[in-house]
Amino acid sequence: MRRPIVAANWKMNKTVPEAAEFAARLKGLLGPSSKAEVVVAPPFTALSAVKEILEGSAVGLAGQNLWHEPKGAYTGEVSAAMLKDAGCVYAILGHSERRKYFQEDDALVNKKVKAALGSGLNVILCVGETLRERELGETHNVVRRQLEKGLEGLGAGDAGRLVVAYEPVWAIGTGKNATPEQAQEVHRFVRERAGELLGREAAEALRIQYGGSVTPENSSALLSQPDIDGALVGGASLVAESFYAIINSIN
Ligand code: PEP
Repeated sequence: MRRPIVAANWKMNKTVPEAAEFAARLKGLLGPSSKAEVVVAPPFTALSAVKEILEGSAVGLAGQNLWHEPKGAYTGEVSAAMLKDAGCVYAILGHSERRKYFQEDDALVNKKVKAALGSGLNVILCVGETLRERELGETHNVVRRQLEKGLEGLGAGDAGRLVVAYEPVWAIGTGKNATPEQAQEVHRFVRERAGELLGREAAEALRIQYGGSVTPENSSALLSQPDIDGALVGGASLVAESFYAIINSIN
């Protein structure tokens, strides 16, 4: 039995007062416990304010990115230990926007995954194909490569601290979500590949989120698929009530 996990990726949105207002609203809506694990990934500047407000709630904190070196002359970057210190439980790594706008490749993502796990963070590893790759019939090859390279050097012992987010790039921020059947098909594939990489038992326990234009309207159809264990939500996570409605479509 896999506990669903629903995560809010705010990207480069919300000032500290806006983030604090959201956190207070969500805390009020959710109460002290939730069937699904709930995670919020604010921008770095708002981590501390959000952490303070969410104290005693069922909501965990995530960093949207990190740099894999432990410290040093990396202007503008934040380490895994710094995220942990700021109260994060998860790091979102390999997001398609990091891959596209910041040229992050699988080898770099792998270094970040190892740095996160080494610092005691759990990882949400994002994978997914572009529209062109899907049209060329390359979806499985792309996702397989991202998984194999992103998880290189990891074993069954790491699997419990890993979540995979399948996020078709053509569905992110476009309002065009994958159908439940399309998503389920790739999620099944991810679980099979994870079985070869991490062992069958670990793969059965692995939580695989869907991400890409998830809304309160489409979430229950997506999240009721057998291999979809939650959602990574961008746009619809910016308003506490709509994020809560997505969480509630599981509860
Ligand atoms: C995301 O950024 O991970 C995402 C899925 O965004 P959206 O929900 O806006 O498509």
